[in-house]
Amino acid sequence: MALIVQKFGGSSVADAASIARVAKRVTETKTAGNEVVVVVSAMGDTTDELLDLAAAISDSPPNREMDILLTAGERISMALLAIAIHELGTDAQAFTGQQAGVITDTSHGNARIIDVSPSRIQRVLEGGAVAIVAGFQGVTQHTNDVTTLGRGGSDTTAVALAAALGADVCEIYTDVDGLFTADPRIVPAARRIGRITTEETLELAANGAKVLHLRAVEYARRYGVPIHVRSSFSLNEGTLVTDVDPEEGPMENPIISGVAHDSSQGKVTVVGVPDVPGKAAQLFEAVAAAGVNIDMIVQNVSEQETGRTDISFTLPTDQSKAAKEALEATAAELGYQSLSYDEGVGKLSLVGAGMRSHPGVSARLFGALRDAGINIEMISTSEIRISVVTRSEDLESAVRAVHTAFGLDADEVEAVVYGGTGR
Ligand code: ADP
Ligand code: ASP
Ligand code: MG
Repeated sequence: MALIVQKFGGSSVADAASIARVAKRVTETKTAGNEVVVVVSAMGDTTDELLDLAAAISDSPPNREMDILLTAGERISMALLAIAIHELGTDAQAFTGQQAGVITDTSHGNARIIDVSPSRIQRVLEGGAVAIVAGFQGVTQHTNDVTTLGRGGSDTTAVALAAALGADVCEIYTDVDGLFTADPRIVPAARRIGRITTEETLELAANGAKVLHLRAVEYARRYGVPIHVRSSFSLNEGTLVTDVDPEEGPMENPIISGVAHDSSQGKVTVVGVPDVPGKAAQLFEAVAAAGVNIDMIVQNVSEQETGRTDISFTLPTDQSKAAKEALEATAAELGYQSLSYDEGVGKLSLVGAGMRSHPGVSARLFGALRDAGINIEMISTSEIRISVVTRSEDLESAVRAVHTAFGLDADEVEAVVYGGTGR
């Protein structure tokens, strides 16, 4: 008998028929003799629809109230799934994040889990029932305010519960057959990855492969939880995210594991910053104080005659307002000449742990972009990743060109998108 945590994403529970299908899958796992804890996301695009509703009412809704609103989505699915499992004759009980013991810090909209005490879930399992938990939510330690874990956060709920319960595996069910060498929605020739290390998965998730929430992978790595990504629409094998091969021990790394893309970034350029010591520190201190997450940074060579330089950086588009306000508020101190913001950028990232010891990867990447006629605006690298910023309209063809150039294209189409709107 195993203890299995199964997480079903929004597209897997998009309507009543899908919920019934998921209930069948959960019941089968249970009747096969396993203990089962299920984590669910909100139905279909519910979270986006709730965000749209709030935006139609206010430009700056209070964060605390937004979290109360957004957690409603997951509560609907948890109750409906428990009802559907009952319909099949299996005992199931639904729990909110708070009831499941998910305690977070107080950062509304992007809270971090600080503790999981799933005693109620354990009692349900001991009693022989299935526990259903609303994903993406928790509660603050001292004030009992409802929080959300950031977009895509149900994956993190699932892995955190798996860690706290000592589960054998955390299964993430979604609308594609696992983790692919690129997003199957834009690269039809993408190949399913059978097994991948947490290190490479972290880089893919951090750079736009939204199939797994970044913090879920961080959690899995820290607590050694094996993640199995699969489709809820098929019985195909999926992807195992783990650092240890169950048969052969530690895994050897491929040179390239995949290409991720991110079209949710913008670029800020601070023009004519005085080229004297301390200006970059001042600039980024102001931006950091506004809670903005900077990604890539480029500083141009200073112009001799003027003694000024341009500094550009990328950031999530939804943080651009905060960054602009922070820079405008410190304009006099910083002494720059002007500020510009560009939403039309996209980021491509090539990831592979074997890159470390393999020369020529960047040259091949840049060559592929040149052959596709795509201009590179910024470049950044880590030991196992190379990222480039391009025009957003070039991003998808860039991903396809790079995927082909590194020999990642599958001979036969493996990438099936079963559901979801890609929103
Ligand atoms: P869920 O609602 O199940 O959480 P998400 O929409 O968050 O699903 O994530 C699944 C989607 O992630 C897929 O439909 C796919 O378009 C996208 N995706 C992006 N990169 C990848 C990748 N490398 N492999 C698989 N899916 C990817
Ligand atoms: N429903 C939330 C979202 O859409 C959380 C999740 O799906 O994981 O972001
Ligand atoms: Mg998701």
